[in-house]
Amino acid sequence: MDKFCHSCSAPLNMSDFRGPAEDYCKYCTDESGNLKSRQEIRQGIAQWFKGWQPNLDEQTAIIRAELFMKAMPAWADE
Ligand SMILES: [Zn+2]
Repeated sequence: MDKFCHSCSAPLNMSDFRGPAEDYCKYCTDESGNLKSRQEIRQGIAQWFKGWQPNLDEQTAIIRAELFMKAMPAWADE
């Protein structure tokens, strides 16, 4: 069964992303499996976007990360 991180959509069937938490990847949790803060996750996703598009400016990357997170079960309600 395919499982995806509820915070960033990383595929949890890949050992690269698998962490201590059932529903989140290792990049979205601390070593105890607790979900990181919204701000930390947003920053991480923004950096991820910038990795794909090096010309993306910081502010645009943050805005896109915010939009991306609105589609994620972990962040949709906030
Ligand atoms: Zn994640």
